[in-house]
Amino acid sequence: MHEPPFVRDREANERLLARECQSCGFVAFPEFRAVCKRCGERDQWDDVRLQERGVVQSYVVQQRLPDEFETPLPLGIVDVPQEGEGEPARVYGLFTETTPDEMDVGMEVVADFRTVFELSGLPVHSFKFKRSRGDRL
Ligand SMILES: [Zn+2]
Repeated sequence: MHEPPFVRDREANERLLARECQSCGFVAFPEFRAVCKRCGERDQWDDVRLQERGVVQSYVVQQRLPDEFETPLPLGIVDVPQEGEGEPARVYGLFTETTPDEMDVGMEVVADFRTVFELSGLPVHSFKFKRSRGDRL
């Protein structure tokens, strides 16, 4: 078992930028497309910023994965609020520092942004969720 090497990088906060559809309010994160997948409007996006926390809506615990992954590995759907008004982004994400026993619908989590690997010498930033432990917010 091994964890991929990572360094904390506050510049990864740029990954908290999402886009909100001006027509229907859908929040796209992290993938951006020209066409809103909810209402079909094209190029009607405003930039919005997400908070570094969210609430678990659903989850599974992956038990069998390729050797390079540590198992069991929770994977969840988390509603991540915007900094301002509007709908939350619904975000799929892996969990870290959270045991399967701790996973629960409605659980508050924090988003932990980090460099997950390097691609052609450039750091690739991504995030994992982890259980919110009051003293670490
Ligand atoms: Zn839309």
